Amino acid sequence: MSNYQKILVAVDLSDETNLVLNKALALSSGTDAEIHLLHVLEPVAVGYAVEVTSVDIEGLHAEATEYAREAMKALGATLSLPVERQHITLGQPAREIRELAKTLETDLVIMGGHGKHGFELLFGSTSSGVTHGITCDLLIVHLPN
Ligand code: AMP
Repeated sequence: MSNYQKILVAVDLSDETNLVLNKALALSSGTDAEIHLLHVLEPVAVGYAVEVTSVDIEGLHAEATEYAREAMKALGATLSLPVERQHITLGQPAREIRELAKTLETDLVIMGGHGKHGFELLFGSTSSGVTHGITCDLLIVHLPN
């Protein structure tokens, strides 16, 4: 049994989200730990090669926001989490995760990680981004490659 009081779980809403959530549930089971969920919406990026006028950026963003809201609502209901513990922010995931952990004064952040892919080694994974500057414990759940 752990003695963590406030746990922030970062969810990308992919198929692997349940693996991360299950770890959080196992760790907090039988404790009074307060669980918070965070999903970060990333600004829709359009490459210069795309003819910008043909892309409805606001529409894409609205669709992504709606999808995230519904998915977080469903996760929140499954975990019986009040809305104020379901956070959706806009920005760069690693930075947003670190910032919310600081604001909420969480003592643990739980997130997923894929290990060492060539791509991640070159460009940096979300988990390695969170590691730099995190102000509390960090648990990275190993996800299958
Ligand atoms: P990645 O490095 O993109 O494979 O993501 C690894 C882990 O980072 C995920 O399992 C999540 O815990 C977290 N993560 C990635 N993207 C987001 C996001 N947009 N919002 C919240 N957490 C995220």
